[in-house]
Parts: sequence; structure tokens; C-alpha cells
Amino acid sequence: MNNYVETVLTDLKSKNADQPEFLQAAEEVLSTLGPVIEAHPEYRENAVLERLVEPERIIMFRVPWMDDTGVIRINRGYRVQFNSAIGPYKGGLRFDPTVNLSVLKFLGFEQIFKNSLTTLPLGGGKGGSDFNPKQSPHTPGKRCSDREVMRFCQSFMTELYRHVGPNTDVPAGDMNVGGREIGYLFGQYRKITNEWNGVLTGKALSFGGSLIRPEATGYGCVYFAENMLKTKKDNFEGKACVISGSGNVASYAAKKLIKLGAKVITLSDRSGALYVENGLTIADLKKIINLKEVRRGELSEIAPEIDGAKFFAGAKVWQIAKTIDCAFPCARQNELDGEDAAYLLKHGCALVAEGANMPSTPEAVAAFLKAGILYAPGKAANAGGVATSGLEMSQNAERLYWAAKTVDDKLREIMASIHDNAFEAAAKYGHKGNYVMGANIAGFAKVADAMVAQGI
Ligand code: NDP
Repeated sequence: MNNYVETVLTDLKSKNADQPEFLQAAEEVLSTLGPVIEAHPEYRENAVLERLVEPERIIMFRVPWMDDTGVIRINRGYRVQFNSAIGPYKGGLRFDPTVNLSVLKFLGFEQIFKNSLTTLPLGGGKGGSDFNPKQSPHTPGKRCSDREVMRFCQSFMTELYRHVGPNTDVPAGDMNVGGREIGYLFGQYRKITNEWNGVLTGKALSFGGSLIRPEATGYGCVYFAENMLKTKKDNFEGKACVISGSGNVASYAAKKLIKLGAKVITLSDRSGALYVENGLTIADLKKIINLKEVRRGELSEIAPEIDGAKFFAGAKVWQIAKTIDCAFPCARQNELDGEDAAYLLKHGCALVAEGANMPSTPEAVAAFLKAGILYAPGKAANAGGVATSGLEMSQNAERLYWAAKTVDDKLREIMASIHDNAFEAAAKYGHKGNYVMGANIAGFAKVADAMVAQGI
């Protein structure tokens, strides 16, 4: 590893020993930047790496709200405004009991490079809360009611509004923050500020949302993978694909794969893994999207309604099928470990595209790189969501709505250019086919140049 990179990492580890996810993400990126750092001494002279790993600002706040039984609950809210060198901070909000500073710093850090790769002027940020909408605080086994989620979102925005804005910081959704939550957050922002603007993306169509935004991360991930296959003169026709998760990213990745002729044989959630040897149909997916977005239930409930489905309670998806061509981890960080990677490789997997952020552990990534398969890291493969959020910002600023086809065509183009940029950057620095290096270097160079140009 390059000396400068090593020094920065050592210092970072000593200052953030309690933040394993953030250190994992930082090490993954920095350890690939040696060649570009050596070619550009100005990065070291301007302390670019030291500045890059330190968020510009972190906001932490109390979120008091009242549950349906009249009891006051307190959660912790955060916004990590990591880097705004190339545009306003942009990144999702996550509501999950696992949310803490380490997780949000890892996500915000990744977001800097991902947003840079989209070719749009977007800085990096991330936020959220340890609020758990999937567990009512007063009735075990029940979810929070819509009214509880609304009161939580209103309280969250009552503090957040002063730190965000269409030219400052534009949050979006992430885990457990979908259309319902964005609606409540936007309503409260509008009420407090008396302004109607594009402060949030992922809005409903009736108030400034963009067509294709809900589909964008999943579709974009598949478009990226399609571009990787093209480098081998191949396509998805008949390929057996395993997908983890069944939320926003997983379900639309599945839909696009089925449309492109692939066989989607798994999905999963916290209750377990659903396996359909002959592949899910679009009709099955509609049921699953309704289950997750409307009924807000578990896959275990719906398995009996899906032809040929087997359900494995509590299981992950990776080690079920006997033949696997492609894998799409689309649920959460560190969900695919070294053993899972070894199983996938042994059973024929030749392409992994990450819909989730950092879903593969460092051991799994090392195995994919060693095997030389097509492997797309999340920051490149799942950038379609934030790219389409960028398109939503443009539409809001112009007070225009684009047709679905217009947005989808732009998304396809953006994913192709992210692919090509990553591919070319890897080749330029002597690592052809290594999308990890390519994505990190291409994403980093633009931000680093902007930081140097703007001074200390
Ligand atoms: P959702 O909340 O819609 O879906 C998450 C899925 O992962 C659900 O199926 C959930 O199961 C499952 N899951 C979560 N935690 C666990 C766990 N501990 N064990 C098993 N399954 C689990 O989130 P998204 O689809 O929006 O996000 C998924 C990933 O994609 C995240 O890493 C996110 O950061 C990333 N991402 C999302 C983008 C977006 O536009 N939404 C953009 C770029 C990246 P259950 O339904 O039971 O909760």
C-alpha cells in the first residue's frame, strides 16, 4: 500500500476505533487509490485524503414523539454531511434500529464516490435514525401504525429542516424510508419553511416526484450488469439469478431481470429466503411488491401463494440453489461472507452486482476478485437511484415532469457511462476488469480535483 494512504488509514483507525463499518468502507476505498495518488502529488500536498475521510459536518439530534398509547418515545436522529465539493450533499435517510454513526459514516463516505460517478453535480451525505417502524414500541410483534410513523417523521423534520434545502442538502429514502415517509417528511418541511421546493427526492408523483425513481436503483443495477456482460458479448437470457432482499432495490432488480429474460430464483427478507427453482413471474413480483409496500408483511406469509416456491425460515439466499449464474445482493451491508462467495463461485456464479451498499464482506470481495468474475461494487452498480434523484432535482428546479421513457433512457445512459468510466479508469491504471479499482479511482479523481481547486 502507498505510504501516504497507509499513514492516513492508521490515523483514521486510531481516531475511529469504535466505527467498524466506516473503517471497512474507508479502507476498501483508500487501499485502491495508490496508483492515482502516485500520479498526482498535488493530492498529498493538499491533504486531500485527510480531508476526505473527515465529514464536513455531523448533526445529531433528539427526536421526541408520542406513540398511539400516549407514551413519549425518544429516538436519535442524524445527518452526516460528508462532502459538498462537487454539489449539494445528497444521500438517503435510513430508519432502522441498527443505525449509528459508524453505519451512517460508511454510507455517507460511499455516497461521495457514487454521486461523483453519476456524472451529476451531487455531493455526499447520509442520515437517519434508530427508530424502528417495523416494531411498535408498545405491542410486541406489531409494526408502528401509520400515525406513529407520521408523528415520528414530523418530529424528525422539525429539527432536520434547518440543515437541509434544495441547494444545501437533499435527502432521499433508504431502508425503511419509502414513499410514505418521504411524504410525511416533505409535508412537515413545507409547513415549517412555507416553501415548496425539491428538498427531498423520492416524492410521490402528485407533488414533484419523478417517474422511474422507485424503480431506478434496481433497474440501474441490472443495466450496469448488462454492460458488464456486454464486455463478454453475453446477455441475461436464461441466466439463473439469486437476489437477496425483497424491498425497493431487490424487487425492481428482479422485475428488470425477468423482463430481460433471466430466471429470478430467490428473494429474501428478515423472515427467511424464498426459492423458486423455475423462476418468479411478473405476477408473483406484483404480489410481493404489494406485500412489502401496502400490506407491509413478511415473505413467509406469501410463500404459499407462489407456484413452486419453497421457503427457508431464517436462511440467506446464497447457499440454496445448485446452479447459479448471477448474484444480486440487494438487502444490507455485510450480508454475503467468504463462505457464501465460495459457494457461489463453486456453483457457477460468474457475475455479482451489488444493489445494496457494501453487502459483500472483504473476504467475499477478495474471493470474487481472485476468481476474476464480473464483480460490480455497490457504489457503481447501485448509483442509478441517486442518479434518478438528481434527475428529480432537475425536474423540480425547472418545474417540469419528464415521461417515464425519458427518465429510463437517461438512467440507462448514466449507468452505461458509469460502467465505461469505471472500466476505463481500471484499465488506465493497469487493472483491466477490476471494477472496484475503476469505480473508486473514477469517483475519487473528480472530487479530489474539485477539493484542490477550491483551496483548503
Ligand atoms: P428496503 O427497506 O426497501 O429493503 C431492504 C430489504 O432488506 C428488505 O427486504 C429487508 O427485509 C431486508 N433486510 C434488511 N435487514 C435485514 C436483515 N438483517 N436480514 C435479512 N434481511 C434484511 O431497502 P432498500 O431496498 O431501499 O435498500 C436495500 C439496500 O440498497 C440498502 O443497502 C440501501 O442502502 C441500498 N440502496 C438503496 C437505494 C434506494 O434507492 N432505495 C439506493 C442505493 C442503495 P424486511 O422486509 O423483512 O425488512
